[in-house]
Amino acid sequence: MSSVLVEQAVSLLKQAKDKHGDGLVYPCSMGLEGSVMVDLISKHGLDIPIMTLDTGRLPQATYDVISAFEERYGIRIQVLFPDAHEVEAMVREHGVNLFRKSVELRKSCCEIRKIRPLNRALEGKEAWITGRRRQQSKGRSDLQSVETDVVYGLKKYNPLLEWSLNEVSEYVHANDVPYNKLHDVHYQSIGCECCTRAISMGEDERAGRWWWENDEGAAECGLHVMSLKEVSGDIEGGEGI
Ligand code: SF4
Repeated sequence: MSSVLVEQAVSLLKQAKDKHGDGLVYPCSMGLEGSVMVDLISKHGLDIPIMTLDTGRLPQATYDVISAFEERYGIRIQVLFPDAHEVEAMVREHGVNLFRKSVELRKSCCEIRKIRPLNRALEGKEAWITGRRRQQSKGRSDLQSVETDVVYGLKKYNPLLEWSLNEVSEYVHANDVPYNKLHDVHYQSIGCECCTRAISMGEDERAGRWWWENDEGAAECGLHVMSLKEVSGDIEGGEGI
């Protein structure tokens, strides 16, 4: 694969670190892009804290890759959990599989299990790294390598923006980077086990997320589609992995 893409990604990561220092974090999705990013950050000694969300509904393969990263790079990934009382109240009212009942309930579940914990982790930060790529979906085609959340002025850096899926995969295998084994059975965008499926040839990369919802715009968890304030009205901050 092109070494230029790697150099550009590392350069953007360094630029972000130089500019924001301890105010920079990387919330990692533990997908294939996450593997590239964890490898780049660790190999280049960039000292960017890596965090991830444990929603309580993750597949075992995701825990396995978290563990593999920690062993391989000698790091500890900060695992963020939702508020237990909020999850209990939600499940008591709507049931354990509420996300299948309506788009609204699915978004509530994403908010409580993902967005609020992430909001808490981003409080006081200046910027974060994402693994988003332009080719992942139509909704991501207009992304820029550096963006600003207009409400809070939090910067987002997208070092893998111009990478194709093949280039991501090639990097992971050429460098023997640990990766989520669900990718071997045609999963692309990996989230909670109950809300993720394998995709078929020709399907959009994010077609395996919330596939029972027909609305094209609904295939985002809310972490990357709204301003932080819109995502979570009662807690400041927010975004997505
Ligand atoms: Fe809930 Fe599914 Fe969102 Fe996970 S992906 S937080 S289970 S709705």
